[in-house]
Amino acid sequence: MTALVIVGHGTRSAEGVAQFAALVERVRTRASDTVGDVEGGFIELSRPPLTDAVGALVDRGHQALVALPLVLTAAGHGKGDIPAALAREEQRHPGLSYAYGRPLGPHPTLQTALAERIDAALAGADRAGTWVALIGRGSTDPDANAEVAKVARLLWEGRGYAGVEPGFISLAEPSVPAVLDRLRRLGARRIVVAPYFLFAGVLPDRIRAQAREFAAAHPELDLRVADLIGDCDALADLVLERHAEAVRGDIRMNCDTCAYRVSMPGFVDKVGRPQTPHDHPDDPVGGHSHQHQHQHQHPEPALRPGAVAIVGGGPGPADLITVRGRALLEVADVVVVDRLAPQGLLAGLRPGVRVVDAAKSPRGPSVGQDAINTALVRHARAGRRVVRLKGGDPYVFGRGHEEVLACVAAGVPVTVVPGVTSAVAAAALAGVPVTHRATAHEFTVVSGHLPPGHPDSLVDWAALGRARGTLVVLMGVETIGAVAAELIAHGRAPDTPVLAVQDAGHPGQRSLPARLDEIAVVAARAGVGPPAVFVVGPVAAFAAEPVLAASGH
Ligand code: SAH
Repeated sequence: MTALVIVGHGTRSAEGVAQFAALVERVRTRASDTVGDVEGGFIELSRPPLTDAVGALVDRGHQALVALPLVLTAAGHGKGDIPAALAREEQRHPGLSYAYGRPLGPHPTLQTALAERIDAALAGADRAGTWVALIGRGSTDPDANAEVAKVARLLWEGRGYAGVEPGFISLAEPSVPAVLDRLRRLGARRIVVAPYFLFAGVLPDRIRAQAREFAAAHPELDLRVADLIGDCDALADLVLERHAEAVRGDIRMNCDTCAYRVSMPGFVDKVGRPQTPHDHPDDPVGGHSHQHQHQHQHPEPALRPGAVAIVGGGPGPADLITVRGRALLEVADVVVVDRLAPQGLLAGLRPGVRVVDAAKSPRGPSVGQDAINTALVRHARAGRRVVRLKGGDPYVFGRGHEEVLACVAAGVPVTVVPGVTSAVAAAALAGVPVTHRATAHEFTVVSGHLPPGHPDSLVDWAALGRARGTLVVLMGVETIGAVAAELIAHGRAPDTPVLAVQDAGHPGQRSLPARLDEIAVVAARAGVGPPAVFVVGPVAAFAAEPVLAASGH
């Protein structure tokens, strides 16, 4: 018989802790002949800690456990924090193994319990004249929020309420006041707020408080708050059902719409990433403190086979990529690389990694990009880990988002790793700060690809001429003369300092100072060629200062 450890996330509410303990006891009594042993513990905030619960079961000779996360929906706790805590227990007790049960909801038992709590709040008033606001915990995980919407819908089906709308107490919309306002505008006269919560805690308290506040502002409404699901036989039996499922190895976890596995609009950055330390901005002061746990979890590489990472490689030197970008390169099967990406990084790739030179794709403004997009998707679909290595930051004139969209459209998981952009770094490597107290309080990065006056240009050159801050021109080698003339025509002083920085970060880096009205001539005479940036503004004059020598160039 497999023992059961019930894992709670913990709460600051003594009542909530007591309800958890009572449920564990209830499961124990109802389970005596089917389950070997039962313990319960928390991963944070409350006692007993999970480690004591597991330790007790191990002491009593159990090596194989079912670990059941006592959560209604799979979100951060169920997907990340609790497995991480269990992984630590496995390390602590060699030989220990566990099967992980799935979250409790949605389940008919919970729907029935919710309906009973709502009816109790109605105390005889009719369902047909009653609207329900089902309030979930709220998450940064869209799938978890969608589960609450599903529960709301299921609660509506066949029960005869006027309607059921989902809302959230934290992190997701609509908020409690927003959903109540929606119901009021729909013509609701009687509303029951039903918290979709197991036990007492800070957040259910807050639901009650916000409902009360709304009721006070709308005396015409009959607004009631239902009890929580709480410790009860039905919940204990559901826990035992989940235990039996896990023992059978029948875990029908729904991962089809999990943002950590598939690209969901607005959440592409989650794909293939570890479940991130979640910040609950509106939790009580002190908040959750999971940081230490997350450092131990997800030892697997963040880039799965079949996924693409668009990685910013920085301005050139191999050691100006981010740690995350470097880690992804280390696990890549295919690296699709730009001409401006740090070529030095390619030497460090694992043997056998396929390097695709994107600069060799067919020429032409969109043909080339289409070929790259197609290659990314094709390699990913072949089950490879694909890194798209770009110069600087992928989203600064890097067409990174086009590649992301192509992957999303093809259903390929994609993630983006920011990089150090040359727009800031080229100046810095030449000793120039793009901002400086009392000198420049703004900096603007502009593409010089299209000259002023070009019909397709989206740049307001006149405004840039009037501005006083730093202007950084990328892709401007061909157009700097026209750009300088336009800036002067709109008010920049002809003697504004400019610094051209070519091949920043590379062994051949050089920088050339000039006045704005002379930069085109100076640059042309010196043979300045791409890649180069032009830094325009008073900060450009700082380049002559000794910091240059200290930078090693
Ligand atoms: N995504 C890149 C920019 C791509 S546009 C980034 O964030 O840095 C290409 C332009 O970037 C070049 O024309 C040049 O203006 C600038 N650039 C890129 N690398 C550079 C380098 N090492 N030195 C100077 N300019 C650079």
